[in-house]
Amino acid sequence: PHDEVLAAQEAHLRGLDDADERTIFDKIVAKEIPATILYEDALAMAFRDVNPQAKTHFLVIPKIRAGLTRLSKATEEHKTLLGHLMYTASVVAKQENLDAGYRCVINDGVEGCQSVYHLHVHVIGGQQLSWPPG
Ligand code: ADP
Repeated sequence: PHDEVLAAQEAHLRGLDDADERTIFDKIVAKEIPATILYEDALAMAFRDVNPQAKTHFLVIPKIRAGLTRLSKATEEHKTLLGHLMYTASVVAKQENLDAGYRCVINDGVEGCQSVYHLHVHVIGGQQLSWPPG
């Protein structure tokens, strides 16, 4: 049943796809450039950040961007996908043994310091973090 839900969501999102301006993350999904992939299903992929900001730093992305260049583009249609990304972050955090805690961050736009315009959740941990960020 879980696989059927993912497949239905995937089919729906394909209809919303914007395959034109591909980012480096589309190339990771297509396995055209290498990445250390930690998790993959029909909707989501998690891989290690190439420039880690903590001992553990991975990204969770939608495999089909479906208009989600950034979180501020989210619509009602993305709600299931957004929930799936957060859930996936927790599954991979467990897999990475981040039992003492971790942080999830989504950078949006210029003031949020976003540089890759394909929605991604940063998951950072493996050490004591400080707060607030800059
Ligand atoms: P910022 O670069 O300011 O962190 P983003 O929130 O858009 O902005 O994050 C993009 C993230 O993608 C960065 O942490 C960067 O290190 C990571 N990244 C860029 N290219 C790759 C790659 N080829 N493989 C893995 N991570 C990458």
